[in-house]
Amino acid sequence: MLSVFGSVALDTTRTPFNTEERILGGAATYASLSASYFVETSLIGIVGTDFPLEYRSILEAKLDLQGLSTKQGNTFHYDSSFDYALSHRTTNKTELNVAADFEPVLPPGYPTPKYLYLANNDPIQNVQLFSKFLSPMITMCDTMEYWIRDRRDQVIRMMSKFDGVVINDEEARLLCGSANLIKCARTILSFGTKFVIIKKGEHGSILVQDDVMFPTPGYPLEEVVDPTGAGDSFAGGFLGHIAAKNSIDSYTMRQAVIYGNVMGSFAVEDFGVRRLIKLTREEIDLRYKKYLDLVRL
Ligand code: AMP
Repeated sequence: MLSVFGSVALDTTRTPFNTEERILGGAATYASLSASYFVETSLIGIVGTDFPLEYRSILEAKLDLQGLSTKQGNTFHYDSSFDYALSHRTTNKTELNVAADFEPVLPPGYPTPKYLYLANNDPIQNVQLFSKFLSPMITMCDTMEYWIRDRRDQVIRMMSKFDGVVINDEEARLLCGSANLIKCARTILSFGTKFVIIKKGEHGSILVQDDVMFPTPGYPLEEVVDPTGAGDSFAGGFLGHIAAKNSIDSYTMRQAVIYGNVMGSFAVEDFGVRRLIKLTREEIDLRYKKYLDLVRL
C-alpha cells in the first residue's frame, strides 16, 4: 500500500482564460489520485465541515479514506493566478484553516504503508506523521515556497529524514540559494536524502542520485488548461509505479520518472482534478509508449 499525507484543499484557480472557485485540490489529493492508477492508495489529511460531499465521493471512489479527518471549520483554501503562458503562478492567498494546527491522528490498527509520500504540507506535521510509522520501504517528500520562506530549517530537517525529495525548480533555487539546478540537487542530497527530482514544469524533470543523472522532457501538449497539481500528479505517478513494481533499481526509477511526466501531463489538461479522475490505465500506458517513441533516437 502507498499512503499519501498532505493538503486536501479547496482551490480558487485563476488563469487568463477562466476562473474556478473552491474546486477540489490539494497536493495530497492530486498525488493520491494519480498514484491510485498504479497501486492501492490511502489518503491521510484533514478537511473542514464545509468540504462538499460531492468531493468526498470523488476521493472515496479511488482511495482509502480511513486517515482523512474532518474538523469543525473551513477546509484549507488556496487562491492562485497563472500568467498568459500558464507557466508562472502567483499565490494570492493561503488560508490554512483546519490544517493549521492539525496533529495527524490515525485510527487504531492503521496499516503501516510500504511506501509513504509526504506531499506539500507543514514540514513539522510531515515529520510527526512519519514518526508514527515503522520503516516504510521508501519515503518521499515535497515542499513549497510558503514553507521554505516560513520554516526553512524544518524543511531541511524533514528532507534529511526522507529517501527522496521532489521539488520544483523555483523552490529548489529558493531553498538552496543557487541558480544552477544541478548545484541545487547536490545541496539537497547533502541534507541527507538519497535522491532528488527537480521538476521543471513543461520542461520536464531531472533525477539526481549519487553519480546518476536522468533528465527527461515534459510530454508535449497542444493545450494546457490548468497547471495546478502537475507536480503532485508527477510524484503520485512516480511513487505509484515504484510501489507497483516493488523495486527501486535504476531501471524502475527511470520508468517511474516517465510515468511521473505522463501523469503530470494529464493533470493539466483540465481544471482541477477533472482529467485525472477520468483516466484509464490503458490511456496512461498508451501515453507512456508515445512518450518513449518521442524521445527515441
Ligand atoms: P502543484 O501545482 O503541484 O505545486 O500543487 C498545487 C496544490 O498544492 C494546490 O492544489 C494547493 O491546494 C496546494 N497548496 C498550495 N499551497 C500549499 C501549502 N502552503 N501547503 C500545502 N499545500 C499547498
